[in-house]
Amino acid sequence: MSVHHDPDCLFCKIVEGAIPSTKVYEDELCYAFRDIAPQAPTHILVVPKEHIPSCAQVTDDNAALVGHIFTVIAKIAADEGLTNGYRVISNVGPDAGQTVPHLHFHILGGKRMPDQMV
Ligand code: AMP
Repeated sequence: MSVHHDPDCLFCKIVEGAIPSTKVYEDELCYAFRDIAPQAPTHILVVPKEHIPSCAQVTDDNAALVGHIFTVIAKIAADEGLTNGYRVISNVGPDAGQTVPHLHFHILGGKRMPDQMV
């Protein structure tokens, strides 16, 4: 499998283990780890191992990968005991406040989320 990798990307470095993280889940396609600055009791990031900058670069070629990530999100949420619900967020670009340009989905749970956003 040829996986595109960006040597300057923080999350590529986390995926390859060059920067430490608290792993929650891993398979051949994706990696999940705890957010370093959690905004909820459970705050996990799920990323493709392949370097995709954001949702804006999701295409027919990688749609199956993104679909797979959503099955992983459901599994992680169940494993984390988020039976009362959770929020899944992916920021895209400056207006959304995306700080790491490697596609990632936040899983936030364990408390009642603010009614705004969204
Ligand atoms: P975003 O602002 O949507 O791009 O989200 C990036 C997230 O990555 C933020 O919630 C950060 O707290 C998180 N983050 C940044 N560096 C690390 C790291 N080394 N380990 C875990 N999470 C990180």
